[in-house]
Amino acid sequence: TPNRTVGQLRRINMTTIQEAIAEASKRIDRFEAKLLLAHCLGVGRTYLITHDKDCLSPTVLQHYEECVQARENKMPVPYITGTQEFFGRSFSVTPDVLIPRPDTETLIEFILEKTSGKGPLSLLDLGTGSGCIAITLALENPSLEVSATDINEKSLAVAKSNAAHLNTNVSFFLGDWFKALTMPKKFDVIVSNPPYIDSQDKHLENLPFEPIGALTDGQDGLSHIRHLITEAPKYLRHGGLLAFEHGWDQGAEVRSLFSNSLWTDIITVKDLGGNDRVTAAILL
Ligand code: GLN
Repeated sequence: TPNRTVGQLRRINMTTIQEAIAEASKRIDRFEAKLLLAHCLGVGRTYLITHDKDCLSPTVLQHYEECVQARENKMPVPYITGTQEFFGRSFSVTPDVLIPRPDTETLIEFILEKTSGKGPLSLLDLGTGSGCIAITLALENPSLEVSATDINEKSLAVAKSNAAHLNTNVSFFLGDWFKALTMPKKFDVIVSNPPYIDSQDKHLENLPFEPIGALTDGQDGLSHIRHLITEAPKYLRHGGLLAFEHGWDQGAEVRSLFSNSLWTDIITVKDLGGNDRVTAAILL
């Protein structure tokens, strides 16, 4: 390879894949060190094993150093590599969107269970971010006709690009919750993973890289859920389903927000960690 030619023999040119990972592992997690190098090389992780004695070009080494530094500075890996796996698919992410989390797969499983075999149904995802919920549901249940909104133009661009790359058909609308919708329509299913972290929650300090507006409402964490439960009857057909992701300690409060004469079949679903994660109800 050009790296081994005498004219270019500089120490930096003689770093192998193996050595680069070993060096980086002193500074960051070893698994992440591999993920980042695979990203810089544009290869899968098995390539790193089968080519561990290959030398890295100065350009790749420079890029790798920047990535390792970013990780040392606590930037989440998905913002460095620009991708995050969700429900078995790779989604592009930028710092404009919340990084998809495994917790949200609870909402996906629940909606798939409720909609499978029910024929064509219209579904709305409010505050779609990367689009991971809307796109995954559209792909997993092709009989769903999926629409999605976001208040942030940049997030919507990420979601649209994910929908295009994953070859799915989702209609996107820019705007504040239901106000994004351009025509009157009643949906069969409405879902959302709104910013639900209480602004006083210490946990927020550990999430300095994600858009604050995707994490917290700046209040008690329930203001958006309250708003959506109040507004939803205008946009949901009778017998339709409204489901939210929420915090591990918000199940009882969200159930109580549904506790009035408009809603029935109020249910809370736990995530894989055994915590309350999704609450849903049917519009009477
Ligand atoms: N589940 C995320 C967290 O606690 C929060 C995402 C959200 O507010 N929707 O890190």
